[in-house]
Amino acid sequence: MELPTWDLSDLYAGVDDPRIEADLGESLKQARDFEQRYRDQIASESLTGERLKQALDEYEALLRHESKPQAFAQLLFSTDTSDDARKALVQRVRELGSEISTHLIFFDLEIGRISPEKFARLLDDPVLADYHHYLDHQRKLAAHYLSEPEEKILEETANDRGRAWRRLFTEITSGMKYTLRHGEEVRDLNQSQLMALLYEPDRSLRQAAALALAEGLEKNAHVLNFTHNTLLHEKQVIDKLRRFESPEADRHLDNELSQEMVDTMVGVCVQNFELVADYYRLKGELLGLSDLKHFDRYAPISKDRDELDFQKAREIVLEAFGTFSPRLAELAESFFSKRWIDAVVKDGKRGGAFCAGVTPDHHPYVLLNYTGKPRDVMTLAHELGHGVHDRLASKQNLLNYHPVLPMAETASTFGELLVFERLQRDLKSDEARLAMLCEKLEDTFATVFRQVSMYRFEQRLHQRRREQGQLTVESINGLWQESMQEMFGSALTLGEDHRWTWLYIPHIVSTPFYVYAYAFGELLVLSLYARYKREGASFVDKYFELLASGGSLPPTHMLEKLEIDIGQASFWQGGCDLIRANVPLARELAERTRARA
Ligand SMILES: [Zn+2]
Repeated sequence: MELPTWDLSDLYAGVDDPRIEADLGESLKQARDFEQRYRDQIASESLTGERLKQALDEYEALLRHESKPQAFAQLLFSTDTSDDARKALVQRVRELGSEISTHLIFFDLEIGRISPEKFARLLDDPVLADYHHYLDHQRKLAAHYLSEPEEKILEETANDRGRAWRRLFTEITSGMKYTLRHGEEVRDLNQSQLMALLYEPDRSLRQAAALALAEGLEKNAHVLNFTHNTLLHEKQVIDKLRRFESPEADRHLDNELSQEMVDTMVGVCVQNFELVADYYRLKGELLGLSDLKHFDRYAPISKDRDELDFQKAREIVLEAFGTFSPRLAELAESFFSKRWIDAVVKDGKRGGAFCAGVTPDHHPYVLLNYTGKPRDVMTLAHELGHGVHDRLASKQNLLNYHPVLPMAETASTFGELLVFERLQRDLKSDEARLAMLCEKLEDTFATVFRQVSMYRFEQRLHQRRREQGQLTVESINGLWQESMQEMFGSALTLGEDHRWTWLYIPHIVSTPFYVYAYAFGELLVLSLYARYKREGASFVDKYFELLASGGSLPPTHMLEKLEIDIGQASFWQGGCDLIRANVPLARELAERTRARA
């Protein structure tokens, strides 16, 4: 299969392009000059709106300039995490990035020290309208800042604390080989190749893959668990220094959501766990299995599954996007024609998929590991959704560009629903429709209920580390099993080899409590999609407007414009009801299929 690779030449020519060093040097100079010009000017009584706007404009331009070498190093590293030159470049830009930050810390701190009366006046100044949201949010963050010398120490040591452990985690998990033993066959596979086997129709192959995963993780458990424990404790210390009341509080602050809102959403999801169990009872019947295990979660209902080459995937996605609006298809098309996608599967490449937005004036990049499964088409739609979101938000300045995590999954999930509907429409038989509906449901469960379970696992994990000190891998294995079993009730028993599987999940390491944003995004988008189905073409502009606002408003304000109140349990229940409606639909399709057989 012919798969595209990135063309990164519009950033730099290669790992040793001298312009990287020149740009980094220039950024450092800009940061020093900025500090010289504005130190003691921001928290000063004589600060005017004009002057603050000038500082913010310069600050924004400086961050934009710095983003390019940062993004290039990170993208290059993602496609080969084992290459020494690429590793060295990532480390180099991070270290320099920290040095640059030390010159900018004063700015955030001074915004926090502006007197309340003066700050209120500045927020009302129309000259600062573009920075209103940024300033308001910055002010909330500032309540948790330490003194400038303390902040500098934290920043300058960050590459040798948390970031170092996270990089080690990525290098280990991307480089790991898993030995698959299936019948006569013994093969060494990387994580992406191994995980793809969990979607195979042959149960013994899925079981062998699950065992290989468990063995590979167990072999590396010492260093991975050490990494987790170190990060858990680091977070505990920093949360205490920064006066955060709970382990998840800093994530909620970044996401611009309150603890109550998140608790409401999580609570509603937990109350709906039984619909997952209900579905898996049906799945057990369809597969003819009475003892479903974790490696059966994604087993296909139908055995004939066409492989889709990348060209076909491209056609499907663009056509589906085009039915919503030609503009959506047009925005996505550039990713193919301009080589903004890297889809090959190879050793050393990071697993999974992502879309990396660089700056509003530079297009984003998409990374995939494309294996030709129908699921990969959905992943392509997902990541292109992110890409389109970024491009629509390109009128925002960099400080308003990136949506907060819970809103960041809007266009990606919406894109998946468009493609799902397009694929469903083409299917001729009830059997094929059933198979696809089951896949979609399982995917939705993984996005909503599994992420909520992981969120609860993380809460318990941080709590236990804080109460009991260093944790053994067995203790965390137990917590993981307990937390992840809840959503399945008695319909599926995860099984012993599942207990190691928390060890490879990158979000737990890279961004604690990230995961609930997935559930938030999916439930929100199910509701938005239902609106689109009701309102048709008149919804299109509202949707584009939502995406174009990027990160310029808190989620509550953005959604108020669509008359959505995310503080209400009934809103989240509405999303769960849309998922629930698919379970009897699957049962009905199954009965029709059986009646014909
Ligand atoms: Zn996403």
